[in-house]
Amino acid sequence: MRIFKTPANTYLCLVSALGILLFSFLIKIPTYTRMDWITIFAVAGSILLLNYYTILLPPKGNSLSMDSSIYLASLFLFGLNFTLLVLIIHSIIFAIFQRKVVWWKHLFNFSVYSLMIIGSYNIFSVTGGLIGYIHIENLIPYLLSFGTYFALNLVLVGIYFILSITENLLNFFLDLFKETIATYIGTLLLSLVLAVLMRTDSIFGLILFTCIAFLLSLAFKQHFRLFKEVSEKANKDFLTGLNNHGYFKELLEKLVNDAKDNDQPLSVVILDIDDFKKYNDLYGHIQGDHLLQEFGTLLKSEAEAANFIVARYGGEEFSIIMPNTNRHTAYSFINDFRKKVNDTYYKGVERLPYGCLSFSSGIAECEKATYSISELLNKADQAMYAAKNQGKNLVQIYNGQSDYSLLHSLSLEKDLEELEYQLKIFLSKDVYTYRHSKRVYQYAVNFSRTLKLNEHERKTIILGALIHDIGKIEVPRDILNKKGKLEPEEWEMIKKHVTWGKEIISTNKKLEDLIPLVELHHERYDGHGYPYGLKGKSIPKLARILCVIDSFDAMTTERPYQQTKTFQEAFVELRQCSGKQFDPQFIEPFINMVKQQDTAEITDKVLVT
Ligand code: GH3
Ligand code: MG
Ligand code: MG
Repeated sequence: MRIFKTPANTYLCLVSALGILLFSFLIKIPTYTRMDWITIFAVAGSILLLNYYTILLPPKGNSLSMDSSIYLASLFLFGLNFTLLVLIIHSIIFAIFQRKVVWWKHLFNFSVYSLMIIGSYNIFSVTGGLIGYIHIENLIPYLLSFGTYFALNLVLVGIYFILSITENLLNFFLDLFKETIATYIGTLLLSLVLAVLMRTDSIFGLILFTCIAFLLSLAFKQHFRLFKEVSEKANKDFLTGLNNHGYFKELLEKLVNDAKDNDQPLSVVILDIDDFKKYNDLYGHIQGDHLLQEFGTLLKSEAEAANFIVARYGGEEFSIIMPNTNRHTAYSFINDFRKKVNDTYYKGVERLPYGCLSFSSGIAECEKATYSISELLNKADQAMYAAKNQGKNLVQIYNGQSDYSLLHSLSLEKDLEELEYQLKIFLSKDVYTYRHSKRVYQYAVNFSRTLKLNEHERKTIILGALIHDIGKIEVPRDILNKKGKLEPEEWEMIKKHVTWGKEIISTNKKLEDLIPLVELHHERYDGHGYPYGLKGKSIPKLARILCVIDSFDAMTTERPYQQTKTFQEAFVELRQCSGKQFDPQFIEPFINMVKQQDTAEITDKVLVT
């Protein structure tokens, strides 16, 4: 039979049958007076009313229902038969009102209550409790009968949950016990209060109790609503309505523990809006706030649709927790979102360096060895800064290598800062060259780790990579940004950038080691390059390396006069041109390096668009 399909269903049937059987066996239709029947209906009516008006207890909103107080009071005052009659009347009326609830749930509920009432009545009698005699002398029977009522409830309902949700048995009962114990102690006390009230005048006592419970319910509802409002406000960011920094960390701590316990992946994303200070400077803080709100709303709707949790991390930084998501899925999501943001128009963004709203983002995936959320956030932060360093509007996965330690060991920070300053001129004229230079620089940082270069060479290739296209400053803006094919004379103009670059950096004695890189990175291994047509080893080694990196980035990113290639296509192209355009010894090491980079694992994707 379908109903016995699962253990939980079988259990439901068994408990329902047992409850109904015992109820039918014990119930008698007695010769009650009219007044007794009025009391029975009044008690049942009062239970019905108080089923709706429960007392909500913070923090979780557990509800203290008074129905058990009334059943117990009725049991202590009027005995088993009376209470079972109240139960059946209440259950029938309740089932009529709650027709949407499936019938077997009503039946199960009725049976559980029957068993609880019958069990606690028997314990009360066996331990010497006297019906109708509300007195301190009955304390032990009260406590025992009450304990039975509570235990039966816990066990009968608990087993059903254990069978339907696979849970750790002990933990489940402990949690249930902790959550319900206070509620049940309240129930016992209230049942005695009600019994005392009803002893002298049952109807009046019942009305008094019901009114007090009703008013308490309203007051507690109000109190709970306020509690929820205040706790929600404490966790929300005022401007964007997203979770705030503190709450984000609380959630992250919990979700990271869950992920580790269940052996599931989890990724964290930090996202920082690019050049937001500039936006504020251009349009003022109020419009800046508007932009943050709009951005927050879009991020929230996209992320929540994917079951991710978003927070405002601070200022113009946002963070996302992605449960059950590895770094590659996180990358796809956030990179798609980045493109969507680029394509969404917000007032005034056309005056930002990229002509659109953009952000840089870092991703870190939680690993077994990750010992704290600070470590995880730190990694995401480092990846985000790496994305900024590569020209912004980028998503970067944390790849375990810190550029900072390398740059520090090479004492490069200061030189880089100066070159960056020069490079920034491109921001207003040719954003593509700016971003390209930053990416080529990043490849040079990574590639220089894997090549056997001495310290001076490493320093030179990293700085040279950053500045190699500086001569393009002299190329007219309309040629640089021209969409479509260039005319031959326009090509000639572009080609001159290597010579102009050399002239620019020659003015600074400190940069003289970079001259070969700036001037010769378009020479070809087969001698067909420019400006001199140098061949093979007569081209300086670092210029040959830079030629590979520079060409790879040019192939894989969008530019006005060329189709974008996927990483795979670009690898094929590098191999085809090995020995012609490129020095063969650097091709495979470079391809391997790119493949090893975390971002490059998504090889079929174009890195930056
Ligand atoms: P980058 O691309 O390097 O991230 O540059 P940036 O200008 O975005 O970053 P920077 O850290 O230099 O400046 C952040 C700016 O964000 C400065 C601050 O005034 C602005 N900001 C932070 N919080 C708020 C806010 O709540 N409202 C507004 N309007 N601006 C804010
Ligand atoms: Mg910032
Ligand atoms: Mg920023």
